Amino acid sequence: MKHQPERTCIGCRNVFAKDEVIRVVSGPTGIVIDYREKLPGRAGYVCPKRDCIQKSLNRENLARALRQKGRLPDPEEFISWLEKSIEDKIRSLIVMSAKAGKLAAGFSAVQDAVEKDRVRMLLFAQDLSAGTKEKLALTPVLMQRQATLFTRDEIGGLLSRELVGLIGITDEGLANAVWKETERLKGLIKISE
Ligand SMILES: [Zn+2]
Repeated sequence: MKHQPERTCIGCRNVFAKDEVIRVVSGPTGIVIDYREKLPGRAGYVCPKRDCIQKSLNRENLARALRQKGRLPDPEEFISWLEKSIEDKIRSLIVMSAKAGKLAAGFSAVQDAVEKDRVRMLLFAQDLSAGTKEKLALTPVLMQRQATLFTRDEIGGLLSRELVGLIGITDEGLANAVWKETERLKGLIKISE
């Protein structure tokens, strides 16, 4: 296995692989989330979990990690910034999957890809009817590898189509990347399934 640099979460003080924690940077206007890990400045790391975020945003913890003395974001505000960053990342992964021809969209295409055992992760729109979801015959693995996020209109928009209620990602790496992001959203208690 490739060696991963480790980072300590400001909240729980546990050590994690760098890609498991979120980088936050002390900028001129206060604390910002550096989801792409590109911003300069004094950085700290926090687990993408509600508890850790609440603990991290305590003045003492943050001051020690970032020497930040300015205005601190409120945890709910911070969580909504983080949710937005994660959702943007998922949107770009969906677009990337579609461009790479690694995505099945809509009921028939997804069902067909599932039958051929090509789907590695399923994403359902929040406004997809329960009936449609139940009609899909899924493998035990796919019963677990699924998330519910965005509306049919939003997913359709990403794919330059009308309403799209479900998609299946057929590339292992891209599916893992989307899965990791949806798990993060689940840790913030936003996403269902
Ligand atoms: Zn933590």
